[in-house]
Amino acid sequence: MPLNRRDMLAGLGAIGLASGLPLYAFPQTNARIVVIGGGFGGTSAARTLKRLLPNASIALIEPKATYVTCPFSNVEIGKLGSLTPISFSYTALEAEGIKVHQAEATSVDPIRQTVQITGGETLAYDRLILSPGIDFRANAIDGYDLQDVPNRMPHAWKAGDQTRLLMRQLREMEDGGLFVMSVPPAPYRCPPGPYERASLIAHYFKTQKPRSKVLILDGKDQFSKMPLFQEAWKEHYPDHLEWRSATDDGRVSKVDIQNLTLSTDFEDIQADVANVIPPQKAGTIAERASVTDSTGWCPIDALSFASTLQPNIHVVAIGSLHASIRAMAWAHIFP
Ligand SMILES: Cc1cc2nc3c(=O)[nH]c(=O)nc-3n(C[C@H](O)[C@H](O)[C@H](O)COP(=O)(O)OP(=O)(O)OC[C@H]3O[C@@H](n4cnc5c(N)ncnc54)[C@H](O)[C@@H]3O)c2cc1C
Repeated sequence: MPLNRRDMLAGLGAIGLASGLPLYAFPQTNARIVVIGGGFGGTSAARTLKRLLPNASIALIEPKATYVTCPFSNVEIGKLGSLTPISFSYTALEAEGIKVHQAEATSVDPIRQTVQITGGETLAYDRLILSPGIDFRANAIDGYDLQDVPNRMPHAWKAGDQTRLLMRQLREMEDGGLFVMSVPPAPYRCPPGPYERASLIAHYFKTQKPRSKVLILDGKDQFSKMPLFQEAWKEHYPDHLEWRSATDDGRVSKVDIQNLTLSTDFEDIQADVANVIPPQKAGTIAERASVTDSTGWCPIDALSFASTLQPNIHVVAIGSLHASIRAMAWAHIFP
């Protein structure tokens, strides 16, 4: 998608409006703003706020030195490419006066308004912006433990090492192998993402390993852009891709990493490469900040992104391609 500066400004304005911040008449303040999470949401918020409030002290907490985007990671998986084009550093943000702490936020005290980070430092805030992305629900699938299973059955739903591992497994898989993907029930990050990935891997098989096949085991019966995907699969990958809905015994109830087996209610399926995308919830630090409810997600006021559960905490997640790619480009590509 071609991007120009006018589009960028429009996107930035949209972010300001969406977050309830009047762009041009913002009272100046030297408030302490802490942002947890250096993904699309956190970096966009930090940079936009620094521009609106140059006197505010803005701290961004992110454990990774390099952010690898999920957008376009499926493209790299499908061509066994490289993550370099989708990797970004935080130097442009630092150059704008944002203090980047390469650390993990380990706890939030919403009463004292403090954040504890690895290394022992405690940061006080007047406003906290939480943008930690998603985490996975432990025990939602029998046998799925968050430590070991992803090392054998990568989810690649957070880009970086998991993406590299999935690419390596696909590269090493013999022609004639079976790639099995388990897709969770909604809601989860990037609803069309699994089907996009399956299509790209089917294309790789068709062109590079023609005796191989993709099997999608789905936890639901309907999915995002379903007619479009199904039309394309019928036309391009009739011999390379099969989708099984939840009512057609598609829901994965158990995984076994020793035998690389995924079990549905009636069948144990042996994979050569298994991509298990587990059910999801808000990032763990959101739970620790007491901004999640019984759904595992964060209720907010839709105009200000303010948590409805805790004062002075805003929860940001950017989900649309339009807003997030523009925001990332604004933050990193056109400093
Ligand atoms: C395969 C795939 C393809 C996708 N394709 C698209 C696409 O084409 N277009 C699109 O718009 N969206 C796409 N998405 C969705 C997109 O990736 C997300 O909407 C986006 O990443 C959300 O941004 P975020 O900042 O909320 O979370 P994230 O990008 O996950 O960033 C969260 C950051 O917070 C950090 N963090 C977490 N916990 C802590 C803590 N305790 N302390 C400090 N830091 C912490 C993490 O390290 C991470 O860097 C895709 C997703 C996937 C999985």
